Amino acid sequence: MIKDLKISLRPKIAAAPDLFKKAVAQKLRLRETDILSYQIQRKSIDARKKKALINFEVRVYIEEEPVKDNEFVPDYKMVSRNQEVIVVGAGPAGLFAALRLLEQGIRPVILERGKDVQQRKQDIAGIIRTKVINEESNYCFGEGGAGTFSDGKLYTRSKKRGNVGKILNVLQFHGAGSNILYESHPHIGSDKLPGIIAEIRKTILDHGGVIKFGAKLKDLDIYAGRIKNVILENGEKIPASAVILATGHSARDIYELLERKNIQMEQKSFAMGLRVEHPQQLINSIQYHNDPEARFLPSAEYKLVNQVEGRGVFSFCMCPGGFVIPSATSREEVVVNGMSPSHRNTPYANSGIVVEIRPEDIPKQFRKSSFGMLDFQKYLEKQAYLASGSSVMAPAQRLMDFLEGSFSNDLPENSYTAGLVSSPLHAWMPEVISSKLKKGFLRFGEIMRGYLSNEALLTGVESRTSSPVRIPRDPDSLANLQLENLFPCGEGAGYSGGIVSSAIDGEKCADAVARFYREYK
Ligand SMILES: Cc1cc2nc3c(=O)[nH]c(=O)nc-3n(C[C@H](O)[C@H](O)[C@H](O)COP(=O)(O)OP(=O)(O)OC[C@H]3O[C@@H](n4cnc5c(N)ncnc54)[C@H](O)[C@@H]3O)c2cc1C
Repeated sequence: MIKDLKISLRPKIAAAPDLFKKAVAQKLRLRETDILSYQIQRKSIDARKKKALINFEVRVYIEEEPVKDNEFVPDYKMVSRNQEVIVVGAGPAGLFAALRLLEQGIRPVILERGKDVQQRKQDIAGIIRTKVINEESNYCFGEGGAGTFSDGKLYTRSKKRGNVGKILNVLQFHGAGSNILYESHPHIGSDKLPGIIAEIRKTILDHGGVIKFGAKLKDLDIYAGRIKNVILENGEKIPASAVILATGHSARDIYELLERKNIQMEQKSFAMGLRVEHPQQLINSIQYHNDPEARFLPSAEYKLVNQVEGRGVFSFCMCPGGFVIPSATSREEVVVNGMSPSHRNTPYANSGIVVEIRPEDIPKQFRKSSFGMLDFQKYLEKQAYLASGSSVMAPAQRLMDFLEGSFSNDLPENSYTAGLVSSPLHAWMPEVISSKLKKGFLRFGEIMRGYLSNEALLTGVESRTSSPVRIPRDPDSLANLQLENLFPCGEGAGYSGGIVSSAIDGEKCADAVARFYREYK
C-alpha cells in the first residue's frame, strides 16, 4: 500500500533518518517495520516562529516496494549526421538548448569563447594568485557560463513548474543530488556544479554534438536578412543555417557586433548596488530566533525587498555560508558576486543589495547614447576599479560607516580572498544608487533586527544582476525581427535571469529552431 503524508517535524528529528522514520510510523499508527521505504516529495523550512519546523510531504510504501515508474530518462538522439544549429555560448541557456536539440534530432555545434570547466577552474584559481583577470576565462566566461562557480540556486520566479521540473530532472540525470527535486529552495553549490557541467558536455559529445572551446564569435556574414556564416576571432568561417545566440550579459562585444550590423537593440531596466556580508552566525540567530535546534538547520537565507522612491531595492543572489568573489571580465573594472559550496559552510553570509535602475534614472551624461544603461554599468565598474586600483581587489566599507557617511579605518574579517581596499563607497557611488541603498538598508534593519551590524561589510560593485540590453525577438517564432535565422537566447538577450530560467529559455529556443527548420526548410 502507498500512503501520501504531510508531516511537520522539529529540526533534530528531521535531521536523523531513524527518528524521521519513527515519526512517520507514529503519524500513520504503524510499526516502523511495516514501512519498507519512503520518498520525500517536498521539503521546506518554516522558521517564522520561534521554534522552526520542517514541513515534509512524504510518500510511504507500506509492506510494498516502490516502483520506479516515474524515473526521468531523456530521449537524446544520435545526431552526428543530422542538420546543424550553431549555438554560441555554453552557459545554462546554450547547454540546455543543445540538450533539447539532441531530443529534437538536431545537431548542436557549440561555440564557446572560454575553456572547458576543468581548465577554467585553474584560471579562476589564478585570479587570486596573479591578481589579474583572464578576459576569456573567468567567473563569467567559459564552459557552464556564469552559473558554474556560484551558489547554484535553482529556484526561479517562473510559474511554469512543469518546465522547471524538467530542468531539475536533467540536472539530476547529470549528477545533481535528488534533493533538488523536492527541496523548496534547491541549490547545488560551486564544488558540485563543474562535475555536472562536464557530464552535460559528455552527453552532447556522445550523441554526436560538437563543442569548440576558445571559439569566440567575432563577426556575422549576413545576406538577405539571414546569417550565412559565423566568423570566429581566429578567422574561421562556419556556415550557419540557424544561430542560437546565448552569450550572457557580460559579452559586451556581442552587443557591439550587433550594433555594427545594424541590428536593433532595446535598453531594459536592471539593478545595481553592492554586496553585503555578515557573519553567518548572526544571520542564523536572526532568522532562526536563537532556536536551540538551529544547529540542525542549514545556514539561514534571507530575502529582502523594499520600495524606495518608486524603485525596488532588494537582496539579490543571497549566498549563505559562501564567499564574495571577483567576477569582472576585463582588466579595468571591478565586479563582485557571490558563490557557496554545496554545504554552505563558510562562516559568512553574503548577498547583493541592489537598486532597480530604469533608463530615465541614469545620470544625464549617459542618456544620449542608445547604450546609456550599458555605459552607466561600465562607468560604475570603472569607478570601482579606480577606487581599488586593481580589477581583482575590491573597494569595501563597513555597512555602518556607509550609512553614517564615514571612512572605514579597518574592515572586519571576510570571505573575499582577493583582497579589499577600504574606500568611501558612500562618497563616490552615484547618488541614484547610494541614496536608495541607504534607505533600503535602514528598512532592512527594521525587518531583520541585528542586520545593521558593525560586522557587516559592503563590497563593490554588484553590477551584473541582469542585462541592461534586450535583443528583440518575435514572441511566437523567437527569431530576431531583422535576421530570421538568429534566435537571441537567455540572459544576455534579455529573456531570463538565473540558471533555471536561462535553461528554460535555451529549451524554448531549441524548439523554435526545430519549428523553423520544419516550416522554412
Ligand atoms: C558568480 C555568480 C553567481 C551566480 N549565482 C547564481 C545562482 O546561485 N543561481 C542562479 O540562478 N543564477 C546565478 N547566477 C546567474 C546565472 O549564472 C546566470 O543567470 C546564467 O548563467 C545566465 O545563463 P546564460 O546561458 O544566458 O548566460 P551565461 O551563463 O553568461 O553564458 C554565456 C556563455 O557565452 C559565452 N560567450 C560570451 N561571448 C561569447 C562569444 N563572443 N563567443 C563565444 N562564446 C561567448 C561565455 O563564455 C559564457 O560561457 C550567478 C552568476 C554569477 C556570475
